[in-house]
Amino acid sequence: MTTLDYAVLNLQYMSSLSYSFEEFSNDLERTADGIFRRAVPPLCPECGVLMSRNGYNAYCKKYIGGIKMGRYICPCCGESLEDDRSFWEELKKGLFDVLDVFYHQLRFYAVPYQGISAIMKLVFPRGKTTIYDAFTESVEKPYIPPVDYSSIVHYDEQHLKINGTQKFRLTLLDDATGRPIADELYDNKDSETIKAFLAK
Ligand SMILES: [Zn+2]
Repeated sequence: MTTLDYAVLNLQYMSSLSYSFEEFSNDLERTADGIFRRAVPPLCPECGVLMSRNGYNAYCKKYIGGIKMGRYICPCCGESLEDDRSFWEELKKGLFDVLDVFYHQLRFYAVPYQGISAIMKLVFPRGKTTIYDAFTESVEKPYIPPVDYSSIVHYDEQHLKINGTQKFRLTLLDDATGRPIADELYDNKDSETIKAFLAK
């Protein structure tokens, strides 16, 4: 198994991260020099010819480790292909999900981001800005329910003088919350205007 080369694995809590890569990459074999690749090279997606091995691409993540993914090239059309590394992405996501749990617990006890960063140094170094971003990202946006207006509304009219001109401000207010439902400025307040306002 490829090692996750960090003290993270010393933590009981993190033991779930020590699962073997094979769990994620059943179709892949690991060579003696650590390359994940298919036992038999794939067929070219373009022309269907058996592809040739063509070295590897390396992916590293600081404090976690790295992997090498097999590459292939088509001897006919030159098309290139790399093995699927989604298991690597899954592994990283699993780790960062665990870190989010840390941040949530520490924030719950009002540890400032700088303090969390100092603690994380012992486990998995993270800057306070990184922690802040991860925490903010992982906190669900609060759900604000739509306002239910009660069935009782209040009608209000104000007589205003704006630049010497008489204006009328008509307002409908919700009885329960006092929130304005409608609020318009008119030149007069004859019954037609008020009817038009109420009909809106
Ligand atoms: Zn080809």
